[in-house]
Amino acid sequence: EQDVSDYRRTLAIRVSGIDVPKPIKLFQDCGFEAPLMSAIAKQGYEKPTPIQCQALPIVLSGRDIIGIAKTGSGKTAAFVLPMIVHIMDQPELGKEEGPIGVICAPTRELAHQIYLEAKKFSKPYNIKVSAVYGGASKHEQFKELKAGCEIVVATPGRLIDLLKMKALRMVRATYLVLDEADRMFDLGFEPQVRSIVGQIRPDRQTLLFSATMPYKVERLAREILTDPIRVTVGEVGM
Ligand code: ADP
Ligand code: MG
Repeated sequence: EQDVSDYRRTLAIRVSGIDVPKPIKLFQDCGFEAPLMSAIAKQGYEKPTPIQCQALPIVLSGRDIIGIAKTGSGKTAAFVLPMIVHIMDQPELGKEEGPIGVICAPTRELAHQIYLEAKKFSKPYNIKVSAVYGGASKHEQFKELKAGCEIVVATPGRLIDLLKMKALRMVRATYLVLDEADRMFDLGFEPQVRSIVGQIRPDRQTLLFSATMPYKVERLAREILTDPIRVTVGEVGM
């Protein structure tokens, strides 16, 4: 209705797609459990950022999303918080079967930052987060993945190496995030990303985040997402 479009305009949010959920105003509107609410408060997050206001209800409803907002706008929590809910919704957690949440990021620094954010929100739960990327011991990462986890944060090349080594299985992976998709393309990871996506069950939920949306990224998104909702905040570069 009018109220919703006014509110979106206030936050500089634009959406496209079918049946787009309403943006929220407060974290309380997400229906998060008390432990997750406490973890959010502990981070000092008082209210959701604009991308979070619109992305959280979309992702929590199980929809695929293309989220475009500039660096520093809070995209990480927009995919990490619903991932925790998604994992806790699974009937049982059997770490040996491999991760439920798979996050791909273009660089090890970024993968490490996401790992730290995911750890903060996993803390109240018995959710194990692993990070795997180049420049660190593949053998150690192999052992860690063999021990099992619910969430893996990875750079594409290293994840493919570890999949080839059978360090993990993707049978449980139902929540796939491609973060900083534009940089992933700039760094030439498109083939690796496609290979990873091809190894994850098609009934997954897929989330793609980017600061800019060049045509190649948009095309990949349209290929690998199902009925996605596209959300942009502010001006979008190509
Ligand atoms: P992006 O991925 O869009 O570049 P980040 O997820 O890295 O942005 O978030 C940028 C900064 O904003 C981080 O320091 C993060 O802890 C902080 N942040 C995220 N969400 C909120 C919020 N709702 N309130 C206050 N700070 C937040
Ligand atoms: Mg980010």
